[in-house]
Amino acid sequence: KNENLFCALQTAFLARPDGIAIETEDGLGYTWNDLERATAMLANLLESLQLPAGSRVAAHTDKSVEALMLYLATLRAGLVYLPLNTAYQRAELEYFLNDAQPGVVVCASRNLPWVRELADAAGVAHVYTLDADRTGTLLEQAARQGDRHAPARRRADDLAAILYTSGTTGRSKGAMLTHGNLLSNALTLKDYWDWQPGDVLIHALPIFHVHGLFVASHGALLNGSKMLWLSKFEPRAVIERLPRATVFMGVPTLYVRLLAEPGLTREACARMRLFISGSAPLLIETFREWQARTGHTILERYGMSETVMLTSNPCRAADGERIGGTVGKPLPGVGVRVVDDAGQPCPVGEIGHVQVRGPNVFKGYWRMPEKTAEEFTADGWFRTGDVGRFDERGYLTIVGRSKDLIISGGYNVYPAEIEGHLNEMPGVAESAVVGVPHADFGEGVIAIVVPRPGAQLDEAEMIARLKQQIANYKVPKRIFFEPELPRNAMGKVQKNLLREQHRALFV
Ligand code: ATP
Ligand code: MG
Repeated sequence: KNENLFCALQTAFLARPDGIAIETEDGLGYTWNDLERATAMLANLLESLQLPAGSRVAAHTDKSVEALMLYLATLRAGLVYLPLNTAYQRAELEYFLNDAQPGVVVCASRNLPWVRELADAAGVAHVYTLDADRTGTLLEQAARQGDRHAPARRRADDLAAILYTSGTTGRSKGAMLTHGNLLSNALTLKDYWDWQPGDVLIHALPIFHVHGLFVASHGALLNGSKMLWLSKFEPRAVIERLPRATVFMGVPTLYVRLLAEPGLTREACARMRLFISGSAPLLIETFREWQARTGHTILERYGMSETVMLTSNPCRAADGERIGGTVGKPLPGVGVRVVDDAGQPCPVGEIGHVQVRGPNVFKGYWRMPEKTAEEFTADGWFRTGDVGRFDERGYLTIVGRSKDLIISGGYNVYPAEIEGHLNEMPGVAESAVVGVPHADFGEGVIAIVVPRPGAQLDEAEMIARLKQQIANYKVPKRIFFEPELPRNAMGKVQKNLLREQHRALFV
């Protein structure tokens, strides 16, 4: 049997070829047959290059249906897809091209001059362009190819994609994912999230990241579900589409931006079946506000580039309720454990390191054998780098990343706990708690707080208030007010930048 992930997805293409698979914001409709033919032509083009097995196809392209087709065609041709954030500029792309050494680079035509220079320097043989208006040399060349193509034979263990991590805690690492990793997770989610025949997905996420590329696209494709495609997230465009959709996936900031729109109402969401959030912690305030405004309970799940999805709040009532502030239970077939520093399982309620295993867990970091070895335990579990705890119902809560954990005067301080107290104070929009070097305590706790528009906040008052709520060693010694928190392209707070900015405070 051909274990190429593309074959599983193609089954949906062939089921009802004339149905609309993807509808774009400018009203274009792509049928399943269009996907079938276009991916065949692109796969034929890629195969005509006669690249060695395992060659990488790097895509530094704007979000478009054709960019998604390039991903599918890369799978179909048996090559390895390597998406790159379009926000990456010269210095970043140079690192990725030299590190990944792809055989093909596809870029936006406006970037061609400098991308070609970097590609030449990195020894990339083929450079194509692809623009969001369906122009560029990639499609010109593919148009000359035949529209039939037998998917390359691949084993479950063969590489399908290399996904660079978001670089929240340091330099991005290339996570090597196999056909088996991606397919097993997609099948698990199809069942656990109860994908239905009539489902329609609003696809508003970027497709260079695990969330938009794998979780969202695979979900819809594997279920043969129509996608309402947005090349960029725009809150009003999403709200306009809600009455025709059933499923939406977003990172927490998208939910916050949707809540700022008066058009987000119970009526607008009446036909919706499921709202899913992930990639960063969803504030409990957002969870509650969403419930009150729309009548829907957001389903929060947890995953990472290295493992695709790991845990999820239930979708069906029979599987349990959705609990805000938790990331749910381990997905079927996925092992999740919380252990202490010595590697011993923590009792329920106690905080420890989150470790995972399962058919979804990646093969290792691209060209980083030592790093890969370090991140797996002797008994084969992957160290996620996240810290969390299980409750008595088996729901996991992520309390932060081990790299963000603060040790002050010998005590462990979990930033998420303090951020929770700060966020509940009136006038606080959001906050970030970090540790910076401290001459007496090792690390000193500080907070960066973003006030709500027009709010007048007082540092001393807030500190006094926290002292009544939590132990003294957890209370920030200083609170700084900023108009916003530094975030990377995935909307994740970059605490390393905050630590850097305040590093000389107490020494
Ligand atoms: P890097 O590994 O380069 O520092 P990153 O870890 O942010 O970057 P990703 O693989 O995109 O890169 O993100 C995975 C991480 O996102 C997880 O390890 C976890 O810390 C965080 N995350 C994902 N979903 C959730 C969630 N629902 N709640 C809290 N954190 C989450
Ligand atoms: Mg990570």
